[in-house]
This record gives sequence, C-alpha cells and structure tokens, in this order.
Amino acid sequence: RLDIRNIMRRIEGRAVVDDVSLQIQAGQVTCLLGPSGCGKSTTLRMIAGVEMQDSGEIYVDGKLICDTVFRVPPERREIGLMFQDFALFPHLSVADNVGFGLKGGKDEKRARVEELLNRVSLKRFIDGYPHQLSGGEQQRVALARAIAPRPRIMLMDEPFSGLDNRLRDGIRDETLSLLKEEDTAVLLVTHEPEEAMRMADEIALMRGGRIVQQGAPYNVYTHPVDKAAVAFFSDVN
Ligand code: ATP
Ligand code: MG
Repeated sequence: RLDIRNIMRRIEGRAVVDDVSLQIQAGQVTCLLGPSGCGKSTTLRMIAGVEMQDSGEIYVDGKLICDTVFRVPPERREIGLMFQDFALFPHLSVADNVGFGLKGGKDEKRARVEELLNRVSLKRFIDGYPHQLSGGEQQRVALARAIAPRPRIMLMDEPFSGLDNRLRDGIRDETLSLLKEEDTAVLLVTHEPEEAMRMADEIALMRGGRIVQQGAPYNVYTHPVDKAAVAFFSDVN
C-alpha cells in the first residue's frame, strides 16, 4: 500500500506539485491523469526517490520512506518503474535483462525469469537480445523486468505511448492482469483520458500541480468537477 501525504515541490518559486495526497491499495490501479506540464512526472519522481519533495511524507505499507529529513534510497524502496523511454540494456540478453534486479541463487533467478517470460509469451526469446525484438515485444520484456523483483508498488509513466494502436490494447490488458496477479499497488501516469478510463480502478485528475478530482472512472467521467474537466474528458469516445 502506497500512502502519499501532502507532498509539495517548488521549482523556481512555483509549486509544480502542490499538496498532493494519494492512497493506493495493493492490487489497485490509480491513474494520475492530467494535461502536459501539470506535475505528473514530478510526482512520480518523488515517490521513486530520484527527486526530493519540499514538504510532505510518503509511506509504503505503513513504513515511512521519506519526509523532508529522512529518506530511504530509491533502490531500497521496493518500487518498480516503467517509463516510455526506460530502455532495455542492449548488451544483455533478454534473460539477463529480466533477471537484472533479482537477488538469490542462480536457479531461483532463472526460474523467476522463465515464469515471467512465459507470462508475457516471450519464453522463446529468453536467450535473444533486445535488438531482435519488436517495440511491443521489448515493452513486454521491460514489463517482465519491472515486475520480476516483486515490487510492492509499480510506478508507470506513459508506458504505452510509444506503441501503435494495434499493440497497445493487448499490452495494456497483459500488464493489468500481471500486476493484479502479483497484488501490486499501481500508479499509472497518463495524459489520455481514454487510457485512464480503460485501466484505472480510481482516477486522480491533476491540474496545475493539484489533484482537482478523485474517484471511480465512471463517476469522474459522468460528474466532472468543472468546465475544464468536461473539456479535458471530451476527447474520450
Ligand atoms: P507531461 O504530460 O508533458 O509529461 P507532466 O505532467 O509530467 O507533463 P512534469 O514533468 O511533472 O509534468 O512538469 C511539471 C512542471 O514543472 C512543468 O511546467 C515543467 O516544466 C516543470 N519542471 C519540472 N521539472 C523541472 C526542473 N527540473 N526545472 C524546471 N522546471 C521543471
Ligand atoms: Mg511527464
């Protein structure tokens, strides 16, 4: 469970993220949805631990991972990351990419790698290299890599935006079912209402650094908080 309390980030005197609070339960997908520049990626970077907030606290499963004085380093937060441009390591095999963040014995690691590649239907590429895979296949390997260490939390920043429409739906569905199976709490960033409607259990609508509305996708869509929200959602079909 991820618990974000009142985080704030100022850049050059401007509150880029302004008093954001969010709770995400294990097995739940929350979409942080909003237009370009509203502070989505900055929020994610603070949760990941690569950028520091100016105020507020973040907890994972009830344990404090950072406030303004204390911080657990990113690699010890049990948080998985998947970004649009989060590329595979080109010089490592598919197996070594997926096994990269894993601890434990060789056989144990291999078993986990095989399990995940099976799950994304790419076992046949286990000894292949990234350049031998299509974009969609690489994305599935990146998903397997992100999930392999069993993170409690998965942060995804527009992970599907580089894929063509035909591939995207399949990978979205595959990603969701894998994350639900692993009981991961997911925060998915997108600027596309259609993606949020499709994937979220809950939508947090963000604008100008603040969360302006939060709720189940259907409720947010049918009861937009203001005219700007109506306009923003009007491109869902
Ligand atoms: P997009 O959908 O385009 O990815 P976003 O919602 O992810 O947008 P952020 O990347 O979080 O937006 O940026 C929020 C605002 O903060 C933007 O106006 C951006 O220019 C500004 N910003 C973020 N990081 C910095 C920085 N290091 N220096 C200056 N401005 C920054
Ligand atoms: Mg962004």
